[in-house]
Amino acid sequence: MKKPLGLILYKGPSNIDGRMIVAIATFKSSNDKTGKMVQVWIMCADVDPILAIKEGRDYSVCGDCKHKHIGSCYVNIAFGPDSTFKAYIRDKYVPYEDSHASMFKGRELRLGAYGDPAAVPIEVWDKFAALSDGNTGYTHQWNTRKVHPRLKDYCMASCDNASEYAKAKKLGWRSFRIRLNKDQPLLENEFVCPASSEAGRKTSCNKCRACMGLEAKTKKDPCIIIHGLEHKIIKFKWGMERIAWKEKYRRLFNYPLPKKKKRPKKRKKAKAPEVKKMEPMSV
Ligand code: SF4
Repeated sequence: MKKPLGLILYKGPSNIDGRMIVAIATFKSSNDKTGKMVQVWIMCADVDPILAIKEGRDYSVCGDCKHKHIGSCYVNIAFGPDSTFKAYIRDKYVPYEDSHASMFKGRELRLGAYGDPAAVPIEVWDKFAALSDGNTGYTHQWNTRKVHPRLKDYCMASCDNASEYAKAKKLGWRSFRIRLNKDQPLLENEFVCPASSEAGRKTSCNKCRACMGLEAKTKKDPCIIIHGLEHKIIKFKWGMERIAWKEKYRRLFNYPLPKKKKRPKKRKKAKAPEVKKMEPMSV
């Protein structure tokens, strides 16, 4: 039997906003960092990913991720997501059936080559994580109510600074944190991602498997220096600065607001004594 190009693992409402989404597994990958992992693309079911971003409909699959607002999403939408969606509407992929289970044996899954794994029901990940040899996954929804608590088993909390890291740890997540440069120190319990250029690209994700959430063997948290396209790095730095300083961005991304200083109570003005009106004297 000829193997299909890709499999539709899920088609149904998004956990984030209830709109129709699809999760599609493709089996060929040229990504050196991840290695030959099965890539899972999470996309809106009825609109291509480029238009979805323009119209804000990517909320169904990206939720509250700050990177779509500040333009620093690491995924190049015009390549993988767009071509996968085009193949999907040309019926190049088939719905998963039990006879396809062998396609996952001996392979690792990358949950969310595009899109947030939190958008897909947890039962889908239970099923396909059990079929495969391991997985990696990252979610930006870890600090929202939209996330299923058991997603911690499969995914890392994507953190962009030390305060996010501290919060994610408090909530029971393992973290994958971005550093701006080498001068920013590793936090306690962190290690440098071995597939990063700063670690000399020692391995790939399919061999490392440290980013499997709580299911991973290691309990330490990986960290990586920001990398990728230059204009996205600039936007990332720009966005993070604004989040740190501007109240409107803090509100937008659900960041804690700085405590407002209490204003000293205004003293009550002393009332001037009432002046009795004098009757005009009659002469
Ligand atoms: S820590 Fe391991 S699994 Fe995670 S991104 Fe780096 S190489 Fe991949």
